[in-house]
Amino acid sequence: MILVINCGSSSLKLAVFNEQLENTASGLAERLGQTDATARFKEPDTEVALPASADHQQALEAMVNTLKSRGLLDGTPLAIGHRVVHGGETFREAALINDEVLRAIEDCASLAPLHNPVNLTGIRATRALFPDVPQVAVFDTAFHHTLPEQAYRYALPDRFYQEWGVRRYGFHGTSHYFMLNETARLLGRPPSTISLISAHLGNGCSVTAIRDGESVDTSMGLTPLEGLVMGTRSGDVDPGLFDFLRNKGVSGEEVHRILNNESGLLGLSGESNDMRILEKLAASGNSQAALAIEVFCFRLARYIGAMCASLDRLDALVFTGGIGENSTHVRARTLSHLKLLGFTLDDARNREHGRNSRNEINHSHSRFPVLVIPTNEERVIAGEALKTANSQ
Ligand code: ADP
Repeated sequence: MILVINCGSSSLKLAVFNEQLENTASGLAERLGQTDATARFKEPDTEVALPASADHQQALEAMVNTLKSRGLLDGTPLAIGHRVVHGGETFREAALINDEVLRAIEDCASLAPLHNPVNLTGIRATRALFPDVPQVAVFDTAFHHTLPEQAYRYALPDRFYQEWGVRRYGFHGTSHYFMLNETARLLGRPPSTISLISAHLGNGCSVTAIRDGESVDTSMGLTPLEGLVMGTRSGDVDPGLFDFLRNKGVSGEEVHRILNNESGLLGLSGESNDMRILEKLAASGNSQAALAIEVFCFRLARYIGAMCASLDRLDALVFTGGIGENSTHVRARTLSHLKLLGFTLDDARNREHGRNSRNEINHSHSRFPVLVIPTNEERVIAGEALKTANSQ
């Protein structure tokens, strides 16, 4: 059995997989550190009793004890995989965690101050609970280690890159990697021969160009703020905005908060960061919600077009993430901007979210296949954890 742990600032996701990489349990603890902290397992549907204001370690212990008492965790796990957001240039693949690896993850924290420290909290809590089990860090950035320099360099003074590592890293790597493997499976070809554009559209959103099985361009950059319009993140803005806002008296911290937490779909609509809610509002005549969806789709279409600069062939365009997997409207509006490239959707297949044997939503006349593939980042992390632990 393999455990997969994904720690956010006030949340902890725990998933259990068997050696065939089948998911046997998934749980989520939320509002950790607050008086109303809760935890529950989705499958089987079970509430987990937490101490008041439980922290990550207490939540993890309570969740593991619940699994044990339900007979879903017998014996010691073979491996534990941790999602770690930023691996910088140090980590090109998953790494077996030891003190040196922990220090290197700490060193990457200046690149991801919101994420890496909480990922480390999760790793430390798990090590305390399972001191003898191999623990593996799986990085969101690792799949993008193949980006060519033309794609990862910013046009900034060279010393920024040389001294501080200021470059584009890209994120959502485990999801884009899963899209590559699933597309290869559906097309019956080895992943190393596949070229595709993968659009991961969840609360965070990114597009990646994959050529012959390698990531060659992606929309997120130094941090997960660059690129597409997201739930609460702005994506691309003119860097001149920072001067403008400074002259208006807006502080650096405020700019950070606005761009990360108050922008994107939420900022444009003034209503919600949740695409389901915005679609309902737009359908009932709310013009701000409709505008937010239009900007989201147009930016996405522009980025899909931009990804073509890195490809000489396209085997498929793939949609995934909560929005990519479920929003008929977003997929249709986005591709309506890309007729020039020859994408055409089949309306019925799009409405059914590609639930057919080939996951296709494209019309038979479309120049390229368009697929909807449910992502499964936890499964990738479980597989990497097992492989890395076994190779030691
Ligand atoms: P996360 O990035 O946190 O894992 P998800 O991948 O679950 O997020 O995606 C969340 C987004 O997916 C939200 O904007 C949500 O509204 C959207 N979503 C989920 N189901 C639907 C649906 N049926 N139609 C439109 N959007 C949906």
